Amino acid sequence: MSLNSTLNFNLTDAQKQLQDTFGYPSFRNQQSQILEHLGQGNSALGVMPTGSGKSLIYQLCAFLSDKPILVISPLIALMNDQVLQAKKYNIPSDAIHSQKQKEEKRKLIDDWPTKQGPYLFYLTPERLQLSGILDVLKQNPPSLVVIDEAHCLSQWGHDFRPDYTRIPDFLEQLGQPKCLALTATASPKVQAELSQLLNLRQGDLFIGDFDRANIDLQVQEPYGFENKCQALLQCLHNFDEPTLVYFSLIQSLEKVSDFLSSLKRDHSVYHGKLPTHIRNTNQKNFINDKNTLMLATPAFGLGVHKPNIRKVIHFEMPGSIESYYQEIGRAGRDGKNSKATLLYDKDDLSIHMDFIKWSHPEPEYIQLVFSKLQSQKDKLEQLGINELRNQTLFYHSRDFRLETSLNLLKRFDYIQVYSQNPFKYEILKEDLNQNDSFLDSTSMELRKKNQLQSLYQFSQILNEPDSLRENILGYFQNEASN
Ligand code: ADP
Repeated sequence: MSLNSTLNFNLTDAQKQLQDTFGYPSFRNQQSQILEHLGQGNSALGVMPTGSGKSLIYQLCAFLSDKPILVISPLIALMNDQVLQAKKYNIPSDAIHSQKQKEEKRKLIDDWPTKQGPYLFYLTPERLQLSGILDVLKQNPPSLVVIDEAHCLSQWGHDFRPDYTRIPDFLEQLGQPKCLALTATASPKVQAELSQLLNLRQGDLFIGDFDRANIDLQVQEPYGFENKCQALLQCLHNFDEPTLVYFSLIQSLEKVSDFLSSLKRDHSVYHGKLPTHIRNTNQKNFINDKNTLMLATPAFGLGVHKPNIRKVIHFEMPGSIESYYQEIGRAGRDGKNSKATLLYDKDDLSIHMDFIKWSHPEPEYIQLVFSKLQSQKDKLEQLGINELRNQTLFYHSRDFRLETSLNLLKRFDYIQVYSQNPFKYEILKEDLNQNDSFLDSTSMELRKKNQLQSLYQFSQILNEPDSLRENILGYFQNEASN
């Protein structure tokens, strides 16, 4: 028998909460249907576009539950933003992730039994293995387990994360509590896989309206860097409203930034090579309209609430239809007319083919990195991370297997990295567990193949620019039957 508690409320309770706590007069998209279903003690999978009110569903549930709600979320930045958002609505909330101190994590787990609703507790999936957490949750079950960015669970998804594969097992050990899986991007194939992995029933699936009718979608085909810069200038001509330009490569972002500077065109930049404080300042200036033109890599936008972005321009094609749709979805959140322009040069396909290749390091490579981290700690700490790079990589500007491997080793608690520069780390386990999914070469190969297939499918859609919207919406609705 399951000890799990479930939610129990009706739509009138939820409606009242929406008005009293959140100050909104009515539900939108699939919110009311999902809430009604959850209130009857069911699980649900909600597929709704970014910004359509997914988080509000469980934030609202928190007020209608006397037990805490557990939220599994993939990224620290996203999680921190969600905690802030929850606090804005006076929902007590905490988060456990790799940047929290050991003592702080311990205390949050120890305090769990004392918590009552409304309370949201955020965890990154790799922390599900934290010692003691399962026991404490078993004895004091949450009323709901929310799985944010649920598509990360799917091998077929564009953003599969090996650490998400721990979730089904975790839920089973918890006695299959009711769950709410949320995602903005799941083709029917992904939906079917998620339903199966999370033990959902047919009536548990809720698909929102994906058409962002206020965003005009365009594809232009300038060939080569110079022509793209000219096309970009055309897009920006006489335009001073919030504009986001996405790049796949930091290198081209920097080149375009130099080009715009040479024309004295004011802009800010956001990418992984910038120190955090500069990135944060640039982000803030863009959000507050101090600067209206932002050049960014896709990391920009996660958890950013800026309703009045009027244009999203892709200087390079994104790696999948899902990423494209998610990124253009940052335009026109206020419902006003906006534009998304993709500068499509077929040569850019190779950028993503490289990305796909290097972001799936072979198990032997990860093993090599781990062995060197173990056997040469003093030397590596002294000579820095470049020494490890020299010892493990052939020269290739886009070969980032080392970064991917270190991230995986970190996420799976094999190492703790205190700082990259100088390189300071600690080894947490002696041996790699061969059952960890990122060491399974067959499943990694399959993923690689899926990602290449989906890149190819995207390029086919881009070859028919006049039917872009129709084909994209068709992709989300029909893929399963392909
Ligand atoms: P998502 O999680 O899908 O990205 P959020 O739940 O964060 O979306 O909602 C995006 C914004 O819309 C938030 O500011 C939220 O408060 C607001 N919002 C959510 N639901 C409603 C609603 N029914 N009416 C008006 N605004 C809403």
